[in-house]
Amino acid sequence: MAEFDFDLFVIGGGSGGVRAARIAAGHGARVGLAEEYRFGGTCVIRGCVPKKLMVYASRYADAFEDAGGFGWSLEQPTFDWGTLISAKDKEIGRLEGLYRKGLETARVSLFEERAVLEGRNTLRLSSGRLVTADKILIATGGAPNVDEKLVGREHVITSNEAFHLDKLPERVVVVGGGYIAVEFAGIFAGLGADTTLVYRGEKILRGFDEDLRDAVSEAYAKRGIRLVLGQVFAKIERAGNGLVGQLDNGAHLEANQIMYAIGRSPNVKGLGLEALGIEQGWNGHIVVDGESRTNVDNIFAVGDVCDRFNLTPVAIREGHAFADTQFGSKPWRIDHQLIPTAVFSTPEIGTVGLSEHQASEHCKVLDIYKSSFRPMRATLSGRDEKMLMKLLVDGESDKIVGCHVVGDDAAEIVQMAAIAMRMGAKKEDFDRTMALHPSAAEELVTMRTKSETRLQAAR
Ligand code: FAD
Ligand code: NDP
Repeated sequence: MAEFDFDLFVIGGGSGGVRAARIAAGHGARVGLAEEYRFGGTCVIRGCVPKKLMVYASRYADAFEDAGGFGWSLEQPTFDWGTLISAKDKEIGRLEGLYRKGLETARVSLFEERAVLEGRNTLRLSSGRLVTADKILIATGGAPNVDEKLVGREHVITSNEAFHLDKLPERVVVVGGGYIAVEFAGIFAGLGADTTLVYRGEKILRGFDEDLRDAVSEAYAKRGIRLVLGQVFAKIERAGNGLVGQLDNGAHLEANQIMYAIGRSPNVKGLGLEALGIEQGWNGHIVVDGESRTNVDNIFAVGDVCDRFNLTPVAIREGHAFADTQFGSKPWRIDHQLIPTAVFSTPEIGTVGLSEHQASEHCKVLDIYKSSFRPMRATLSGRDEKMLMKLLVDGESDKIVGCHVVGDDAAEIVQMAAIAMRMGAKKEDFDRTMALHPSAAEELVTMRTKSETRLQAAR
């Protein structure tokens, strides 16, 4: 008889956990998986997927506005929040079903309850049942932060609730300047809400290339999204049917909803890490090595709970590499370099590689190619919004070290550029590539004139 109930027990049925469980089971392992909420995890249930559906919804406003320039005349279009939310929920339900089915087909034993560590080979389920496993994978993801010291924090929502509001708020304030705040400010504004974004710093999207930050800031201001910078809320109170928030500078902002998007923390509370001496980092994240192994050698962790790169494709690959390595005799590690990423603001950001600031530290000679132009569609629509393309090239090796795009389909364009960069593409390779005309992306292979060359020695 086997020593343990399972070869592998996975805590968390999100992006990383589901992939690891299915691959390990495919390699013949006996796998159990516990999920305390819904299969699919953050990405499917209350992250990437519902967010992107809402981004699509919000962009119809531009499409209706632009259509006139192409000869279309439309009656005043109206938007119904309830229709969007129920269609979105139906699709999320369908996807959740596919995730569950995939696990069942792979013969993973599913436990629809919370699991915590009871020992290095033992887990306690919330039903009270104990299960044992040779190896354990923690893939519990993360949860949104709200400022602990904020007076009136009970009045605010996070992205979790934003997906299920009864109605579109007439006036909304979004707090934060990162991915979620910028994306949701764009969604709410596109759907017609009077939108304000409050950020503690001087410019949103810290860490991104400065040109990307400037382009989205300018576009948001033009689109009527108020950016309140260098401020945080001191307190938030109920006022009639709405809320009123007092900023540090004493000013008041009224809103129907105030949404906090100030980062996320690893889901580790009450998991039993401390009793087992599992090493954790500054915000509680689980510290792992290149094989996703914790300091307890049969316990592993992948995805947001490790706070490496909190993106779905990264969690999926980490889970896959773990399962192949531990159960498939196919050891491999994931390379966290050159991860492409998008901010689904409107206009959208797509980016891969180094920002100009990072590249200027990294390259002795940095060649910058930059183009800001009116996309063809805007010629007839009259939309006053430019597209930005930027390539950063190591002047010594000619290798492309950064590719940044703002505008329609930026994410789609940058995904393709990332393949070339992964293969070590040089500027010369982009130059030799025939343009596809007429497209916006052709600009990336036709930029011939350097905007600037920077020498490290001169800095
Ligand atoms: P999760 O997907 O969070 O899964 C963890 C699961 O574990 C959850 O289902 C949870 O219920 C369960 N769980 C936790 N504790 C326990 C326990 N003790 N017992 C049982 N179950 C437990 N990434 C992108 O790449 N692109 C995007 O466009 C994007 N948009 C996003 C938008 C939003 C609003 C948010 C919040 C995130 C977004 N992300 C995006 C990030 C992405 O969702 C995460 O990086 C990804 O889901 C991480 O996967 P994971 O497996 O680590 O964790
Ligand atoms: P981010 O880390 O992207 O941004 C957090 C923002 O909140 C920053 O602007 C930060 O400011 C600000 N902030 C932090 N603490 C405070 C505070 N105490 N008071 C006021 N402001 C504060 O986190 P998000 O919550 O936006 O998203 C979490 C993660 O989810 C992302 O980092 C990303 O990995 C993933 N994600 C990916 C998406 C995508 O791929 N399109 C979309 C959505 C999420 P400062 O910059 O000054 O530190």
